[in-house]
Amino acid sequence: QGDPRLQTISDAIRVIPHFPKTGIMFQDITTLLLDPVAFKHVVDIFVDRYKHMNISLVAGVEARGFIFGPPIALAIGAKFVPLRKPGKLPGRVISEDYELEYGNDRLEMSMEAVKTHERALVIDDLVATGGTLSASINLLGAEVVECACVVGLPKFKGECRLKGKPLYVLVEPS
Ligand code: AMP
Repeated sequence: QGDPRLQTISDAIRVIPHFPKTGIMFQDITTLLLDPVAFKHVVDIFVDRYKHMNISLVAGVEARGFIFGPPIALAIGAKFVPLRKPGKLPGRVISEDYELEYGNDRLEMSMEAVKTHERALVIDDLVATGGTLSASINLLGAEVVECACVVGLPKFKGECRLKGKPLYVLVEPS
């Protein structure tokens, strides 16, 4: 893609083989957070892309979407909505069940978080199967403008679609 910032971002992500279980190449973004240049590149690229898209809501997926979502939301003047693991949110929630490679999981969102006619961006650190982002799209409803991740498997790299919504990914696992 020619943007030298992408190499800096990729180099700052540590790969831990067989974590949290055998066979998984864990992409550890906590080392990227230790590098303020690389971390800022991530935020800058997303902010440049989304600042003129009329986005009113940035949704972050627990837990690592909570790291990248808020600085982007603040910079583009949007609200931040946490999509949480079950049982964490007080008040009335809507929930979406989804399948993991082994077993099931659920995401929850406060019912009052989204108003009608909002334009939403969904942020997570990584897309593997796309199950988590698909559940997030379902939770938010029809107003999802795009999903964005720092890392994606090669089939998701760059711009593609997920459940009919655009998906934008910066780098692939190294
Ligand atoms: P998926 O729903 O299969 O797209 O998985 C994406 C979610 O699982 C994201 O919230 C990631 O943080 C996490 N995840 C899946 N695979 C990895 C991996 N290899 N390294 C780090 N996180 C991962």
